[in-house]
Amino acid sequence: TMDFASRVERVEPSATLAISNKAAELEAEGKDVVDLSVGEPDFDTPENIKDAAKDALDAGHTGYTSSNGIPELKEAIADSLHDDGLTQYGPDNLIVTPGGKQALYEIFQTIIDDGDEVALLDPAWVSYEAMAKLAGGTLTRVDTATHDFQLEGALDDLADAVSDETELLVVNSPGNPHGAVYSRDALEGVRDLAVEHDITVISDEIYKEITYDGVEAVSLGTLEGMEDRTITLNGFSKAYSMTGWRLGYFAAPEELVSQAGKVHSHSVSCAVNFVQHAGVEAITNTDDAVEEMRQAFAERREFLMGLFEDHGVHVPEPQGAFYMMPEIAPDGDDTEWCDQAISEAQVATVPGTAFGTPGYARISYANSKERLQEAVDRLAEADLI
Ligand code: PLP
Repeated sequence: TMDFASRVERVEPSATLAISNKAAELEAEGKDVVDLSVGEPDFDTPENIKDAAKDALDAGHTGYTSSNGIPELKEAIADSLHDDGLTQYGPDNLIVTPGGKQALYEIFQTIIDDGDEVALLDPAWVSYEAMAKLAGGTLTRVDTATHDFQLEGALDDLADAVSDETELLVVNSPGNPHGAVYSRDALEGVRDLAVEHDITVISDEIYKEITYDGVEAVSLGTLEGMEDRTITLNGFSKAYSMTGWRLGYFAAPEELVSQAGKVHSHSVSCAVNFVQHAGVEAITNTDDAVEEMRQAFAERREFLMGLFEDHGVHVPEPQGAFYMMPEIAPDGDDTEWCDQAISEAQVATVPGTAFGTPGYARISYANSKERLQEAVDRLAEADLI
């Protein structure tokens, strides 16, 4: 038998992938599964972005690029960060990566040593924990579920959880899996703690473009005192419906970029050349398509919230992303509920436990209204709501 490194044995396989596999199995048996477990938009990539990729291929952009990204894309990203008030970042503060996930991986590898403490706000996206553990980190977790996923109410708990020992805190607003958008006041509370304890903070803003009811997500790095301790992370997957293209980036102080650049160049070399060219088009020329998708998500959010309300299910209202977390098993077992949802109603969802929040399930509403209706009807028929 092979002897594996402890770092991989510390980590669980992705819970969301396990559900997708189960859904695929049922579909292979000929069952009609409503899959509300997926973390990607259900739209095709906008045409102008595809055209830009084709043009880039035809123009011969097929070789390696400079490791941290092509200058055109770094310029375009820096411009867009400036537009959001993140004026501390120029092109030299950027690493362009094959997906936001790789950006996170490089950040954790660069900052976290064995035994270093990473703070997460639960429910938290599953990969933060895995990446912290792969890097040898330990976790301290703060629950926001009792505050309907808003951060204000959890700030006291966060203050208790972090200390001078805390190396890194991850903030994800709008957030996966909860859809909450943290208020400026709440983020100022985070800032105060980060400054007090000298904590570096990752601001994962991958859902920043997708917010509702006029709410705008505040970029943590714009707050006074956070300019030099925030790593701002983003990607093209969600806003531009480009999940399979694998394109993301992070912006950070130059000293961090030069260290992380080693992890980056020795692992992936660079992001895909023609995809980076398509990224320039996405970031500079795709506002209308992004807005159209946002409006579709907004409608579905209203619709699905309404359906759950009709069934008396408590759902903290999400202000962003395309997820919501109904409290489907307040006194019971959410993993069991999700198992029943898929086997008895053929509706795929992800148990809150996977994100550190038992009692809830994550529902992605990146799906048509007809399918959302179908899902809720089936859950009701199976007596699950
Ligand atoms: N951050 C969050 C919160 C996510 O939900 C995801 C994808 O699910 C990512 C980062 C990474 O996405 P990608 O690697 O496709 O850019």
